[in-house]
Amino acid sequence: MKHKIFKLQGKVQHYAWGGYEFIPSLLGFENTDHKPYAEYWMGAHPSASGMLETEEGLQSWYDLIQREPIKHLGKKVYQRFGELPYLFKVLDVNEMLSIQVHPTKEEARKGFEREEAAGVPIQASHRNYKDKNHKPEVMVALGDFWLLHGFKKEDELQQTLNSIPEFDFLAKVFAADGYYGLYKMVMEMPPNEADELLLPLIEREIAAEHSKDQPGYWVSKLYNGILPAGNVDRGIFSIYFFNIVELKKGEGIYQGAGVPHAYLEGQNVELMANSDNVLRGGLTPKHIDVPELLKHIVFEGVKPNILAGNELEHEIHYPLPAEDFGISAVNLEYGREYVSTSTSAEIFLIMKGEIHCDHLNLKRGEVFVVLPDTEYTIRGIEDASLFKAFVP
Ligand SMILES: [Zn+2]
Repeated sequence: MKHKIFKLQGKVQHYAWGGYEFIPSLLGFENTDHKPYAEYWMGAHPSASGMLETEEGLQSWYDLIQREPIKHLGKKVYQRFGELPYLFKVLDVNEMLSIQVHPTKEEARKGFEREEAAGVPIQASHRNYKDKNHKPEVMVALGDFWLLHGFKKEDELQQTLNSIPEFDFLAKVFAADGYYGLYKMVMEMPPNEADELLLPLIEREIAAEHSKDQPGYWVSKLYNGILPAGNVDRGIFSIYFFNIVELKKGEGIYQGAGVPHAYLEGQNVELMANSDNVLRGGLTPKHIDVPELLKHIVFEGVKPNILAGNELEHEIHYPLPAEDFGISAVNLEYGREYVSTSTSAEIFLIMKGEIHCDHLNLKRGEVFVVLPDTEYTIRGIEDASLFKAFVP
């Protein structure tokens, strides 16, 4: 392979929560079989690696990295991580995702080794740790995007609890025992007690009018405006406990280890460490391991840090505390050029317009990879916008 720049074909994930139009339209086709298109993966994850269009035909990037790791990752990244340390995605969130928290690297390693030693099969539904890695995440909104992110600050949470008659006793628990005591109480509450508490509240919320910055909107959406017949999902509590955050197009947010979060609605690009370690806390029929969950949540109020990005020349940078990945947005007017030299494997996603780079002419929805230590120039053939993922 003489080229060091390749077009990449990503992989679609048809999870049930996905939307029907955004990703097909981005990729340039019609969703004729009406399947949900939840995620578009751009990377080298072993379970769904991107395919590179090479001179020798279409090849799995994961396989190429296995064969020639230093060429594809660069020496520094290979020695440090042994793999492409990030996974880049487009998400279209139609129905809300589960509440989740991700472990630190140290906790992930210990948890993985513990479950391996106990002989828990890697695919078992009660398996918590699929690998030894942490999973920090950053996302940038592609339009209005809503999510739950961290516990509300103390005053605000106390105010929420005081305003709901069913939560009267929880207001006292919070005042006495703080975030941990409050969360432990609702997560360990027997199902019939949780139902008794939440059903009248859900019924009221369904009957009322809400805006999206109010918990009632999301409670009502979760049940499609119909009172649930079975046990109530205990993630409902978290909709009241956590910050409801709205991001506007181009705004980002970072989620490090221990910050509970859930995507509620909208489209984004997401970049994360290459891991599948998720501990769930509700809004899901999937396994919830409450004791394990309680070990990993950081029990403190959070003021969401919305990243506006810093613009420099053609590029908007999003400063992050992560070592595994970085993200920026590149905006090129017609005829303008972005000139750079890659220090790691970089992935570009074209969100708007058309560009020329090396031997490629690419348009909206297309993706290309620049291998490390490559000088390259991207030229706008039309006004173009791209996202760039890289290792800092
Ligand atoms: Zn997450």
